[in-house]
Amino acid sequence: MGIGRIFLALAASLSLGAAEKTMDVYDIDVEGGKCVLVVSAAGESVLYDLGWPGYNGRDADRIVTAAKAAGLTKIDYLVVSHYDLDHMGDVPLLVSKFPVKHIVDHGPLTTKGKGVDERYAKYAEVLKTVKHTTALPGHKAPLKGMAMTVITSAGAWIDKPLAGAGQPNPLCATTQNKPNRADDAEDNMSIGLLFSYGKFRMLDLADFEWDYDHKLMCPNNPIGKVDVYQVSIHGQDKGVSPVLAQALGARVALMGNGPKKGGAPASWETLKAAPGMEDIWQIHYSLNGDKAHNPPENFIANLEGVSDQAHWIKLSAKSDGSFTVTNSRNGFTKAYPKP
Ligand SMILES: [Zn+2]
Repeated sequence: MGIGRIFLALAASLSLGAAEKTMDVYDIDVEGGKCVLVVSAAGESVLYDLGWPGYNGRDADRIVTAAKAAGLTKIDYLVVSHYDLDHMGDVPLLVSKFPVKHIVDHGPLTTKGKGVDERYAKYAEVLKTVKHTTALPGHKAPLKGMAMTVITSAGAWIDKPLAGAGQPNPLCATTQNKPNRADDAEDNMSIGLLFSYGKFRMLDLADFEWDYDHKLMCPNNPIGKVDVYQVSIHGQDKGVSPVLAQALGARVALMGNGPKKGGAPASWETLKAAPGMEDIWQIHYSLNGDKAHNPPENFIANLEGVSDQAHWIKLSAKSDGSFTVTNSRNGFTKAYPKP
């Protein structure tokens, strides 16, 4: 090996050694359900919802594919945000395919809905064999390489602001509230989570709706600013109030929509007009909006008229607050330097 070669090898190993591990987030395509896999810089993992049941185990298979791509051999925490079909997926099937160490949910089923009792009974069987915790607002999971704080759970929320937050939210005075629909009660039971790694912060409130955004975010903002907002309730217009979506100051919105579910033009406009918003990334092209209410193709994982391709969006965050977002369909990556 010549001197030049040795130098190159040394430089490569030095730069590898110096590269900081990232916190990685995979927004997995579950065709309009929710499924987000978060892997800490120390390799610990949180699977936040499982998409839909049925379809021949489609969504469980997609989760296993993403988990393997992330180098995981187990899920440390499975968080079931609430008991709606598009989030709860098939827990018994997933647990039979991939080891799950711990399940977190919002507590026993208290709402009514079609088929939910039967679904919950099958899920409750799994709780007899896997360690289980009920999420309480303000709690932090003991994870290495990232923090996960419970913001909302079972219709309650943090009773004091997070460190440095709690300032008045001026959007409360300029935003009309919308009443909560009684048949959406389970959505507002959602476990909402703040993920952080050093200076990087990402908020995800699962299916929290407009009226609950106001309860949480008015008159004062108890969360403060974040870098990334995982758009609530698939971007449907019964969620995504400006009092939340525009108060967070997020640079990037990630939307777990389906071709015909969520991605509402009204939600798009709220996000577009949010101060500091640089880009909106979507799991699917939204047929509910026209071209002007969808991002450029590089920011869409699954394009118009294409289904079952299961491309994901991957985000990698560093502790200085910088992050990159990558579209698994074409490898398009955008870097967001530290603020
Ligand atoms: Zn949902």
